[in-house]
This record gives sequence, structure tokens and C-alpha cells, in this order.
Amino acid sequence: MNQIVENIERIKKTLPAGVKLIAVSKTKPVEDIQAAYEGGQRIFGENKVQELEQKYGLLPKDIEWHQIGHLQTNKVKYIAPFVSLIHAVDSLKLLQTIDKEAGKCNRVLHCLLQFHIAEEETKFGLDEGEAGELLESEDYRELKNIRITGVMGMATYTEDTGQIRKEFRHLHRIYENLKSKYFTGQEDFKELSMGMSGDYRIAVEEGSTMVRIGSSIFGSRNYKV
Ligand SMILES: *Cc1c(COP(=O)(O)O)cnc(C)c1O
Repeated sequence: MNQIVENIERIKKTLPAGVKLIAVSKTKPVEDIQAAYEGGQRIFGENKVQELEQKYGLLPKDIEWHQIGHLQTNKVKYIAPFVSLIHAVDSLKLLQTIDKEAGKCNRVLHCLLQFHIAEEETKFGLDEGEAGELLESEDYRELKNIRITGVMGMATYTEDTGQIRKEFRHLHRIYENLKSKYFTGQEDFKELSMGMSGDYRIAVEEGSTMVRIGSSIFGSRNYKV
């Protein structure tokens, strides 16, 4: 069996039913994605808009493409026509842009709110207060072409599994809080996107519904290319 397909099979065996595997193919050639596709994988994640757009053009049209990384507002228009899920929404401005571009394509785009749960300093991700402010705003309520279907986060890059577990548990709590406060009665608010190659087992134990796995499927990335 192809090594990529073998890796996917191995990982899938460890995932409980209902947990989706997002194969993160960033920096990897279309041949690798094609191999995974032929093995049955249908959901792929990319973090660069230009690369995502290119790969979308070259690969089968029943692939579900997820934008997993930080997204700049001026790039939304390139992926709005075809993207299935945007994982890392962390501002009202971005949400408004997605809404506008989705409207032009007559689509309702599904989005996840990204939370900053790690100890590491990063500019990306909301805290609970900011999310509350966003969700209670008049501007948000006016949006018709987006639908928030869950939350996403990245744990600290560390060997300390206790720390990682604590951060995922925190994200799960945020998810439950938002669900009961803002999304009661919205059945498709159900996604908890957390877990990557190094920490997905812990993420799954802490309630992840979507794991985003790259290097354990496709091998390590070479950023010099
Ligand atoms: C690259 C990336 C992943 C996958 O990382 P691996 O460690 O290779 O599994 C997951 N999520 C995001 C947001 C990423 O940018």
C-alpha cells in the first residue's frame, strides 16, 4: 500500500467514530494529495490561499477543502467560491469579509472561531471576552452568509502533555460556554477543531471532533522549497 494511505489508515484506526480527519497537505505536491484521495481521503487542509487555490484547480472536485491557518481579509475572495470550512476566524472584520464574499457566490460559508489557548505569544486567536463581544454585536447579527459551526485552537508546542491537556480542556470549556450562551438550538454548532500530529491523541481524549494532521500523514515538511 502507498505509504501515505497506510499512514491515514493507521491514524483513522485510533480515531473514535465521528471524529473527522483533516489531512493537512500544505507544502506537499498534488501527487501526494492524489494518492491520499485514491485511498479514500476526502478532506484536506491548507493554510496558504494561493496554494489552496492552485490545488483546488488541479484535483478532483469532490474534495472538501479546509482553510486551516490565518486568513487575510484581502485573500478571502479567492477561496470563497469553493472552500468548505474556514478554521481560523479571529475577528469581526474577517467575518464580515467572508460574509461579503460568500454572498457574491450565493453561498453560506461555515467558519470556526479561533481561540488563543496556548502559552506561546501569538497574534492570532480570540479570548472568551472578545468572542462574546463579537457574538453580541449588531454587526455580527446582520451577517447572513456565514455560519459559525464551532471553535478551533492550537496547544502550546511542548513535551508537557499535562499542559497540552489543560489547554485542550480549556478550549472544550469555551466551546460548551459559547454553545449554551449563543448557539442553543443551532444543531450544527458542534465542531471542536483541535489536535495535530504531535498532540491529536490528547485532543481526542478531550473531545476533539476534527483533528488536523499533516506530518504524520505526508512526512515532515521542507520549508526551503
Ligand atoms: C500545519 C498545521 C497543522 C498540521 O500540523 P502537523 O504537526 O504537521 O500535523 C494543523 N493545524 C494548523 C493550523 C496548521 O497550520
